[in-house]
Amino acid sequence: MTDEQSTGGGTTTADALNGRVRVVDHPLARHLLAGLRDESTPPERFRYLTQRLATVLVLEATRDLPTRTTTIRTPLADAEVDTLHGNVIAVPILRAGLGLLTAVTGLLPDVQVGYVGLERDEETLQPSSYYLKVPTLDDRPVLLLDPMLATGGSASFAAKLLRERGATNLTLVCVVAAPEGIHRLTGDHPDMRIVTAGLDERLNDVGYIVPGLGDFGDRLFGTFGEA
Ligand code: URA
Repeated sequence: MTDEQSTGGGTTTADALNGRVRVVDHPLARHLLAGLRDESTPPERFRYLTQRLATVLVLEATRDLPTRTTTIRTPLADAEVDTLHGNVIAVPILRAGLGLLTAVTGLLPDVQVGYVGLERDEETLQPSSYYLKVPTLDDRPVLLLDPMLATGGSASFAAKLLRERGATNLTLVCVVAAPEGIHRLTGDHPDMRIVTAGLDERLNDVGYIVPGLGDFGDRLFGTFGEA
């Protein structure tokens, strides 16, 4: 790692995408992402860093949640306060998306959780779902959790399944995104938002994000070199 200093931080919005892609570049997010990228980070620390970074990402992803203003009594006086209004739904894409879930349940105790498991036909390369269980979606905010937005094929297919079940308010929370995935997802789902900690250079010829951080699921669950 080179020893450059930078200041500032916050959220970078890609103007060309009308603010639908938010790259969280808070210094803490960049620090946590650096640890995730480092190939020497062991699974235990990888899980710890993932949970911390996911917390930052979920805060950004829920920035526009509706609130309701009420009046409560403090020990000193009446105060107008805002409380969250309406339940959020989180849907991790199995299995790597599970790594982002603890942050959501920690921040939003009332969250409802659905799951989607996807596989790809070896010959046609078409995705299909082997598992799909989601609560009633309607217009409620849905956080789709998938740490690596690579080709965008899985996230786009999952978003399609959720739309077919009524979702209208979808945000993908991911750790790293490739330009190819952003392009695919924003093309297939023009109103979907994407919150990420890193916008990387490209995909390699086997679909890994470069520089990326390797296989997220393997690093999270310690399953290196297994089928
Ligand atoms: N999935 C991963 O885990 N890593 C990548 O780089 C791309 C897809």
